[in-house]
Amino acid sequence: MGTITGKPKRAVVIGGSVGGLFAAVLLRQAGWLVDVHDRSATSLTGRGAGITTHPELLEVFAAIGIGLDDLGIRADRRITLGSDGSVISEMTVPQIHTSWDRIYRLLLDRIPGENYHLDCGFVRADQSDDGVRVQLSNGETVLADLLVGADGFRSAVREQFAPEIQPVYSGYVVWRGTPVESRLAPQTIESVFPYFAFYFPKEQQVMGYPIAGLHNDLRPGFRRYNWIWYRVVDDAKLKEMCTDETGRHHEFSIAPPLIRKEIVAEMRDDARNILPPQFLDCLDNIDSPFFTPIYDFIPSRMAFGRVALIGDAASVSRPHSGFGVSKAACDAFAMVKALERTGDVVSALKSFEPERIAINGQVVRHGRFLGTALTINSSNREESKAPELPVHEHMMRHLAMPNFLHA
Ligand SMILES: Cc1cc2nc3c(=O)[nH]c(=O)nc-3n(C[C@H](O)[C@H](O)[C@H](O)COP(=O)(O)OP(=O)(O)OC[C@H]3O[C@@H](n4cnc5c(N)ncnc54)[C@H](O)[C@@H]3O)c2cc1C
Repeated sequence: MGTITGKPKRAVVIGGSVGGLFAAVLLRQAGWLVDVHDRSATSLTGRGAGITTHPELLEVFAAIGIGLDDLGIRADRRITLGSDGSVISEMTVPQIHTSWDRIYRLLLDRIPGENYHLDCGFVRADQSDDGVRVQLSNGETVLADLLVGADGFRSAVREQFAPEIQPVYSGYVVWRGTPVESRLAPQTIESVFPYFAFYFPKEQQVMGYPIAGLHNDLRPGFRRYNWIWYRVVDDAKLKEMCTDETGRHHEFSIAPPLIRKEIVAEMRDDARNILPPQFLDCLDNIDSPFFTPIYDFIPSRMAFGRVALIGDAASVSRPHSGFGVSKAACDAFAMVKALERTGDVVSALKSFEPERIAINGQVVRHGRFLGTALTINSSNREESKAPELPVHEHMMRHLAMPNFLHA
């Protein structure tokens, strides 16, 4: 329970994206007073792209009273294309595809505006018998019973409490974009748009699935296709790709508006020789495709006294399992359940940590296995121990598959 002797407990959540919001909504439901702080000065609305859902995520939605009616678009069939765009393999897998924006909005609507603070970053935290004292970039210091670090893969909270944990570059990037349905060719709309579709050229993965249009528009014509292309990129090339027009190099990744035009043009040229017609049509109808370098790391710590790490701050999995948002939701759910079971915050976090480290480690390893087809030349030892390269059948049966944790 969020109260001891009738006095509500107070939590500070760092990171106002999906992980932080799941924690905030669940904690409020358990009776806690919660403030969420994000360093971004502008609204997060409009960030992110498609999100495949899993039963674990739907279970957390149910626990907070979010129904599935207009969560997203259901695709029942998976297809794999050959280079000419014909279907070479197919299977039935019902799955709802939603978007980051949709999830963000559904959660944000459950947090009072006065408890959600933008332009307010984490500076540091100090623990004592009274609680945890959190310093924020707006100059405020807040005393709380619990600090939740949900500040993403380069977490400042993790940097203070476990600086030895660092993300590892996978050796590849993902290009993405979301073309609007009405702009696609009739052949693409008919043969690919309704499906979770895949194409597997050597050392690459290309895929897509339908998602709602802007502002959750589910009308035919207004929906979008979540287009994704993973490509191997070595360290030298990544450095070049993460250098902007002014010659400034951006460590880890570059913001989409800063990607140089020639990097996009080079990718579009390659696409003409590689992609089947429908996936090329998708790309041709994306005005500003952008890339994200893929990193991961296995969690080793998630609890430090009254401080918990959740979501990408705690562990990052490569996106092939499509489980990042589900993982953040499950971390938050497990943390709040432990707090409800055990009145004492420190003991509760101690009991939540081993359970989530075991599952999240499994999720990260699974992501590495699914990325193996992309990284045949990788020197990453863990990947090179993976079994023989999965063929396209195998990949279609494993990528972003619901229930993979129980398979
Ligand atoms: C290509 C790609 C495809 C993906 N596809 C899927 C998918 O299909 N399904 C899925 O479930 N997941 C997917 N993911 C993963 C998913 O997007 C992430 O796992 C998820 O967004 C993590 O949420 P989070 O809240 O933990 O972190 P984030 O979304 O990274 O949010 C962290 C927040 O913390 C804030 N912040 C950072 N530093 C500070 C600070 N010092 N102080 C205050 N605030 C701070 C940031 O502004 C940000 O808002 C994909 C990821 C990628 C890259």
